[in-house]
Amino acid sequence: MDEITRDVVVIGAGAAGLTAANKLRKAGLSVAVLEARDRVGGRLWTDVIEGAMLELGGQWVSPDQQALIDTVADLGLSTYSRYREGDSVYVGADGEAKRFTGEMFPVAESTERIIDEITARLDAMVAEIDPDKPWEHPRAAEWDKVSWDAWLRQQTDDDEAVRNLAFATGSAMLTKPTHTFSLLQSLLMAASAGSYSHLVDADFILDKRVAGGLQQVPELLAERLGDDVFLNQPVRRIVWGAESATPDRPADTGRRVADLRALTARVEAAASSSDGVTVIAEGVTVRARFAILALAPVLYSRISFEPPMPRLQHQMHQHISMGFVIKVHAVYETPFWREQGLSGTAFSPYELCHEAYDNTNHGDERGTLVGFVSDQNADDLFRLSAEERKERILESLSHYYGPAAKAPVVYYESDWGTEEWTRGAYAASFDLGGLHRYGADQRRPVGPIHLACSDMAGAGYQHVDGAIRQGHRAADEILERTRG
Ligand SMILES: Cc1cc2nc3c(=O)[nH]c(=O)nc-3n(C[C@H](O)[C@H](O)[C@H](O)COP(=O)(O)OP(=O)(O)OC[C@H]3O[C@@H](n4cnc5c(N)ncnc54)[C@H](O)[C@@H]3O)c2cc1C
Repeated sequence: MDEITRDVVVIGAGAAGLTAANKLRKAGLSVAVLEARDRVGGRLWTDVIEGAMLELGGQWVSPDQQALIDTVADLGLSTYSRYREGDSVYVGADGEAKRFTGEMFPVAESTERIIDEITARLDAMVAEIDPDKPWEHPRAAEWDKVSWDAWLRQQTDDDEAVRNLAFATGSAMLTKPTHTFSLLQSLLMAASAGSYSHLVDADFILDKRVAGGLQQVPELLAERLGDDVFLNQPVRRIVWGAESATPDRPADTGRRVADLRALTARVEAAASSSDGVTVIAEGVTVRARFAILALAPVLYSRISFEPPMPRLQHQMHQHISMGFVIKVHAVYETPFWREQGLSGTAFSPYELCHEAYDNTNHGDERGTLVGFVSDQNADDLFRLSAEERKERILESLSHYYGPAAKAPVVYYESDWGTEEWTRGAYAASFDLGGLHRYGADQRRPVGPIHLACSDMAGAGYQHVDGAIRQGHRAADEILERTRG
């Protein structure tokens, strides 16, 4: 096995890890990036499926995502707008497809009024929240105790209003059932995009795409690092603190009470030291002064830490979990919906595909629709055969666009739940009460180990923008320590 020495070892070649590595390298530190997969990009992945270029993971850029916009510009990439000419479609409780323009769904006037009122209330609450520190809001504890669904149902008994309001942070963003996360978590999701109104405005949140695909961002960042990016290197073991100098000594299992006390003392000593770190991947061992864990926190437990992570981290990481959404790609000979005056934008809190968009590639003659199936609906679909699943999904798309939607020439489901090195989509969030209880500790370094990922972002939370911001933050923390 190769053994190398660097100032900093970064684990994970997603947007967060590669941003951090580039920043550290620019500041004069040596780096190595260890990536488990055979490609860089993590949740950014552009691939060609049966001749169609598809963005299997993240793709959209919104105007508030300045860190991503700056990176895209720095890398010389160009963007284009999502197609949005024409009418959108909404399917209500009666199953009827109705055309509409603007942001408000075509619902009964009374429902519209309620949606407007609660949206204004939510915008006011979100305006009081710092996305980087939502736990500091005076009502954070109270708002973290009530589920998003329960809070909405306390505001109104209009079921259609609740479903439509719940949707923006539920199926469309955190991709978990709305009774499983708190009002505070929902407000963070909205605050990370500037306001609740921004989240429900598809023209804002799904504004632009990068020509050629968003995975070019990590690919070009990795290119700048050259041979310092190591693929196919799942990190299995991290020895840190005083023990990092002798990683081959057998680990202390701490079976007796006296040993356990000694182990706790060692963890505490290591957590406040910067004695260095030895990171052991499948084919390479890196000795470094600092490490950055740039992977989803739900995957930390895949790595064996010696000494173990402190008690707080052991507890906290059990309260973070991934949402789950299937991103469905359907490519047609032509964008047939445009001929009917449809923009391709479609929503329904009653449909299997709760939202769908025109996702035609820049300069492509063929038309592509992208649809999303979230949380419990996604679980249920994966209990079916692939054929049944496809039939159910295309049936749902046909409720928006008509029978032509049932006959794509290319059909593909992005299933991030099966991806060993991600395990869900789009990203992670705390369970009920977890954000207020642990949020302030989630980015705190542990000894020489720093943490970066979109899952722990404030601004840009769950998005590529947040991953880039967290990469910068972790790099800055290390640069600060090297100066100190
Ligand atoms: C279907 C889908 C659609 C999305 N749509 C959008 C969108 O339109 N716009 C947007 O901004 N965001 C979107 N997102 C979210 C966005 O893609 C992510 O938030 C972002 O890419 C995460 O970047 P990251 O670097 O923080 O983490 P990741 O991309 O998860 O990178 C972590 C890396 O660590 C590696 N790794 C894990 N464990 C180990 C180990 N033990 N050893 C070595 N390497 C390891 C992984 O392989 C991975 O490459 C979407 C995500 C998905 C899945």
